[in-house]
Amino acid sequence: MEYRDHELIIVGAGPAGLCAALYAGRSEMDAVLLEAGIAGGQLLLTELVDDYPGLEDVGGMELAQKMSDHAAKFGVEATQGNVGTITRDEQGRFLVEVDGGDVYRAPAVVYTAGGTPKRLGVPGEEEFMGKGVTYCAICDGAFFKGEEIAVIGGGDSAVEEGEFLTRYGSKVTLIHRRDELRAQAVLQRRFLEHEKSDVIWNTVVEEILGDEKGVTGLALRDVETGETSELSVTGVFIFIGFTPNVDVLGEHVDHDPSGYIETDRDMRTSIPGFFVAGDVRSQLVRQITTAVGDATTAVFAAEKYLLDLKERGEAEGASPEIAQEAQTV
Ligand SMILES: Cc1cc2nc3c(=O)[nH]c(=O)nc-3n(C[C@H](O)[C@H](O)[C@H](O)COP(=O)(O)OP(=O)(O)OC[C@H]3O[C@@H](n4cnc5c(N)ncnc54)[C@H](O)[C@@H]3O)c2cc1C
Repeated sequence: MEYRDHELIIVGAGPAGLCAALYAGRSEMDAVLLEAGIAGGQLLLTELVDDYPGLEDVGGMELAQKMSDHAAKFGVEATQGNVGTITRDEQGRFLVEVDGGDVYRAPAVVYTAGGTPKRLGVPGEEEFMGKGVTYCAICDGAFFKGEEIAVIGGGDSAVEEGEFLTRYGSKVTLIHRRDELRAQAVLQRRFLEHEKSDVIWNTVVEEILGDEKGVTGLALRDVETGETSELSVTGVFIFIGFTPNVDVLGEHVDHDPSGYIETDRDMRTSIPGFFVAGDVRSQLVRQITTAVGDATTAVFAAEKYLLDLKERGEAEGASPEIAQEAQTV
């Protein structure tokens, strides 16, 4: 097997990965950036970003391109590759295999594979994504000031974000397919007692309706009676789950109950040499600003880790202690 050797492998080219590539390149590290699709990550799902400091209003695509160009300026090799597995060899080096069989090898990884909001899977969802359909209240709530908003879901995120959205919307209607919410009682109370809130129980969304300007409403169906109705809204916030992209990893990287990887303040995980940044990390808020902040720390921590390895005379790979650990991440 022929390996592609580097000092550092960065997995994922969303905001975190692109920022990691920028700093790795700027530090003249021998790094490679692997991305399954097009660089930009969730920015590509975002119509407009109005909370990235210094860029008052910027399109998601435009910001993705700017970040990509900026990273490229510092010269890190960027390659298209869907990472299938991450394992380690007997010396503790990370083996990152991409579809097609190429294996990248390095003593350190910055893992920034982000996450994916779960889709409702109804007609209109893809069509109106970024034109009224969204998955992020902090990001997009302010675009719906004084408008009628629907929130889909019944767990903590839906109810908490629903309450958050009452500061913008003229009315926030939660649509839930059951007759009770799964969210914590305190979150339910805050939402349900709010003067702008409403709930439609036992109901599913059949279609997201709209015109050339964006969302105009929802086609609903009562799951008990089968009765159909329409709700007039311009914003649809879907909170039926968010999946951190961790499938390529084994179980024994420490993670929280929802699967997000736990780190210390320097983005170190329970596996030496394996750093994590951005939305895949267990943390309070998931934003572009937090992703790039994490990534900055992760790269400098990885650089320090590599220097420590070299100083111990083991520049070829990881230390013997590390090598004794599990072969699969
Ligand atoms: C609709 C929407 C609107 C948003 N609006 C805003 C906003 O206005 N302001 C704000 O601050 N935040 C916003 N966010 C959140 C923000 O986009 C995320 O916090 C940010 O993109 C996280 O960056 P990341 O690099 O950690 O992950 P991601 O952006 O998820 O990027 C991860 C990258 O890793 C790649 N990847 C995954 N698995 C693999 C693999 N196996 N192999 C190779 N590559 C892989 C993916 O293709 C992707 O490119 C929004 C999110 C959504 C969904």
